[in-house]
Amino acid sequence: MKILAIGRNYGDHIKELENERPDEPVIFTKPDTAILKNNEPFYYPSYSHDIHHEVELVVRICKEGKFVQAAHAHKYYDKIGLGIDFTARDLQSKAKEKGLPWAIAKGFNGSAPISNWLDKSEFENIQNINFSLKVNDQLKQEGNSSLMLFSIDYIIAYLSQFFTLKTGDIIFTGTPKGVGPVAIGDRLEGYIENQKLLDFEVK
Ligand code: MG
Repeated sequence: MKILAIGRNYGDHIKELENERPDEPVIFTKPDTAILKNNEPFYYPSYSHDIHHEVELVVRICKEGKFVQAAHAHKYYDKIGLGIDFTARDLQSKAKEKGLPWAIAKGFNGSAPISNWLDKSEFENIQNINFSLKVNDQLKQEGNSSLMLFSIDYIIAYLSQFFTLKTGDIIFTGTPKGVGPVAIGDRLEGYIENQKLLDFEVK
């Protein structure tokens, strides 16, 4: 399986990092070794001193697809979950300055904790889902999928032009504002609506 991810998909987050609003989705990938499941702890790596949390809705692909049309994209995913797109902001900033790829900054070991999956059918409208992140019991990030610049269906159609989508692939759909650093000892709790789906520690 592969992990595909969208950067800069919420206007308020683009502003906080002073990035440009993209005309097309900004795409990056993470290797499967980035995944953490079952609320396993995240071990803070020694090569970064500025790991940021980015809480995101994630979708799971359920059908192989290439050049999927947006109108049919809803048939290609069946599950919704919550993920943290951990980002080594110091390494990313260095890469950005030099115009170099973000592979390490975004794809290092453990950089993609994901929750259990919820059935898509549980949601009345996929583009109106509330989600949030607390760090040490303090609300840090709050988002709603209606505020995405590129909808989930559009993202699936867009990605499938370049990458054949396969069952089990995961797409991170972008983070709202409020990203910030984590530290050893922090407890992260992530919610979709009022349901707690993530609860793990930084070690
Ligand atoms: Mg992100």
